[in-house]
Amino acid sequence: MFICKNCKTVDKFELMFSPDYKGEKHFEQRINDKNEIEIIVDGYKFIPDLQFMNEHAVCRYCGQIYMWDYDTGYNK
Ligand SMILES: [Zn+2]
Repeated sequence: MFICKNCKTVDKFELMFSPDYKGEKHFEQRINDKNEIEIIVDGYKFIPDLQFMNEHAVCRYCGQIYMWDYDTGYNK
């Protein structure tokens, strides 16, 4: 999945939201028929990628924002 460049925590999309995100933060995760992870947040569906993480996801362990990289120990 993704790894925090600051604390090296691997996040599996149990992500936090940017502090200025104003939605309800209703979060669902599922595998679609192409075997891709789909995330649905407040009715908005997308396939998460590094760009998304670095625009929206805050590390819940160290609090760093926008510090994600691909976790190379994991099959992408
Ligand atoms: Zn972190």
